[in-house]
Amino acid sequence: LPVLVGGVAVTPYESVQQLLSDVIADDGKVVPGMAIAINPEKVLKAQNDPQTHAILAQATIPFADGIGVVKALQKKTGKKCVRIAGCELWLDILKHSVKHQSKVVLVGAKADVISRCNDILTKQHVNVVAYQDGYFDNEDIVFDLISETMPDIVIVALGSPKQEKLIAKLRAIHNNALYMGVGGSFDVLTG
Ligand code: UDP
Repeated sequence: LPVLVGGVAVTPYESVQQLLSDVIADDGKVVPGMAIAINPEKVLKAQNDPQTHAILAQATIPFADGIGVVKALQKKTGKKCVRIAGCELWLDILKHSVKHQSKVVLVGAKADVISRCNDILTKQHVNVVAYQDGYFDNEDIVFDLISETMPDIVIVALGSPKQEKLIAKLRAIHNNALYMGVGGSFDVLTG
């Protein structure tokens, strides 16, 4: 259950495995929702910016990505909890999606970067059903992509808060997916 850290709800996890079991059920089905990495910068921003607070409050999997948040959780719960790096978690989630061939859509980054991400993940047998670079003029292109493919997992790399705003709109048209914003992680993967 989530615990408030500086007014922001964060779920304390004892392991990455425990988080993954909240995201991919025993039968292999992806649990719909929105995973957000919570770090001290975001908690501070949320305290001064109601829009940021509202975005973070939409998360169904708000996980601690920062030692300050981990320490606060441990103090409140009296239990050990781990820091989970968002830039590694999305790859763990996709690895777990291979077995049941959950449908994955990738949105964001420059055209050559997203194309190389698709190559890398497809080689790892991730079922990428569509991808779109992050420099589109009209969001309709993404809405159409989601409506056509009905994915189980949508990874969005546009930077914050752009990616979270897009995710909120995408959830309104297709709620039956797990969404995660990953900032510059597509660039990291393609190095
Ligand atoms: N990006 C994008 N469209 C935009 C702006 C940014 O696809 O209109 C991509 C950018 O190419 C990069 C990612 O968003 O891959 C993250 O950008 P940034 O490093 O600025 O965000 P942060 O990781 O700091 O949240």
